[in-house]
Amino acid sequence: MSFDKEYDLICVGGGIMSANLALLGKLLNPKMKILILERLDGVAKESSAGWNNAGTGHSALCELNYCPENEYKSISIDKAIQICKQFEISKQFWSYLVNENLIDKPNEFVSPVKHHSWVTGKDNSDYLEKRFEAFKKHFMFDSIEFTRDIEKMKEWFPLIMRERTEEDVMAASRIDRGTEVNYGVLTEKLFSILENEFDTPVYCNMEVQDVDPDTDLDWTVKVKDTLNNKIHELEAKHVFVGAGGGSLLLLQKIEIEEKDGYGGFPVSGEWLVCNNNEIINQHNAKVYSKAGIGDPPMSTPHLDTRFIDGKKQLMFGPFAGFSPKFLKEGSNLDLLKSIQLDNISPMLGAFWHNLPLTKYLVEQVMMSHKDRMEALRKFVKDAKDEDWELKVAGQRVQIIKKDEYKGGKLQFGTEVISSKDGSVTCLLGASPGASTATAIMLEVLEKAFPELLDSKEGKKILKEIIPFYKTELTSELFRKELKNSKKALKL
Ligand SMILES: Cc1cc2nc3c(=O)[nH]c(=O)nc-3n(C[C@H](O)[C@H](O)[C@H](O)COP(=O)(O)OP(=O)(O)OC[C@H]3O[C@@H](n4cnc5c(N)ncnc54)[C@H](O)[C@@H]3O)c2cc1C
Repeated sequence: MSFDKEYDLICVGGGIMSANLALLGKLLNPKMKILILERLDGVAKESSAGWNNAGTGHSALCELNYCPENEYKSISIDKAIQICKQFEISKQFWSYLVNENLIDKPNEFVSPVKHHSWVTGKDNSDYLEKRFEAFKKHFMFDSIEFTRDIEKMKEWFPLIMRERTEEDVMAASRIDRGTEVNYGVLTEKLFSILENEFDTPVYCNMEVQDVDPDTDLDWTVKVKDTLNNKIHELEAKHVFVGAGGGSLLLLQKIEIEEKDGYGGFPVSGEWLVCNNNEIINQHNAKVYSKAGIGDPPMSTPHLDTRFIDGKKQLMFGPFAGFSPKFLKEGSNLDLLKSIQLDNISPMLGAFWHNLPLTKYLVEQVMMSHKDRMEALRKFVKDAKDEDWELKVAGQRVQIIKKDEYKGGKLQFGTEVISSKDGSVTCLLGASPGASTATAIMLEVLEKAFPELLDSKEGKKILKEIIPFYKTELTSELFRKELKNSKKALKL
């Protein structure tokens, strides 16, 4: 393993975020010297791994939390529009790589799986119909279908409709162009393009321990080779902390004032995974329902067809677990170590103002296999205990930050933290995460390498890769690009 004297960019972490950032950077400037450092023995082994996330191409087609209803019962679709555009940006990036022959089999990581929302009870059904009406009027979602008809739902998701009668009050909507994504396979592909086509080393078993300011304008990245405990000190003009759940602890060591007040709260995910092929083959859909009142958005229950390990799979969840670790392969001391003088008050404030979340977590942690099966039976009435096994998913670290009024608040999305000059950038948070990685990493590039994106050449290349970048979307452009990515990605 050999190191260069100095890098333009060091990315900490071998997940989907670093992969997107490094590859976009290389496409914009092939001369950029980039190094990726990953602490585990391979890339995509934490949240980006296939089983560690739900693999939903989050594009707001089925997730009801992106369409909140206000006190006057009107529905806002602004967030849905934003998420949908961000996911299309990811699809455009993948399509570009396919069209440039850098990826040859897109269906190894992305597959067409229709996205459905399904609710029970009159109020929820009325809400879903109103969302359908709002969606129908917007060109991004106007292919949506809605039904209260049991027979139609039997066609859409027969497994869920078993043992239901006309007496059950329920409604569903569906958008055809939904996707199932194996972000683990995608991340591996992006890193192998970087290594094989862009001469960018991806070094594993390398744990970054600190990032210190240098005497000149660079940063010194202190990294431990975990195979022999040798410490290396590397120079970089820019550092991106894309360490997933591990980002907060590293950010706290970096001497930039922008990190002050940030804390994190870990929530682990769990799935029930079906082991009976007969059942697996009866479901061909992603079906999202509604989170319970007061429950966090990430708790929305869903029954999903997945494609992992070259096989069709069926998964239900998520269930939340509690572990003080910030990474699946982290330390039990992570949460404790993250509590510092500057974030105690935001952490206490966030805790105090999120008691329903605490209650939800306590209830989830106390769940037995029997309780989880009961939750599943709200979807699949005749689910048998022996057909389903528990699988531990990835670890999410939700952002806690200062709040003028409440002292601290919990944030469910992602946030890019950056030093004033953009030489250090860091991604905190998880959701919607992998689906929107390309858009988020463009934000990192804007902060770290504005000159690249502002140059005539940069703008030209970016328009080719991502036609939606900084573009006001029209119905014509949206439809044209949707068609292009459908063809390139074989969806
Ligand atoms: C239960 C669950 C369900 C989810 N479902 C979805 C979904 O359906 N759709 C979606 O789009 N997103 C989903 N997400 C979110 C998505 O998985 C994440 O946003 C995304 O994978 C994060 O990528 P990352 O590169 O930031 O982090 P990761 O993939 O976690 O990668 C970070 C890497 O950094 C390494 N690292 C950590 N510390 C160091 C260090 N000090 N030095 C070197 N390396 C280090 C880690 O080992 C790891 O490999 C889900 C997440 C969870 C947990």
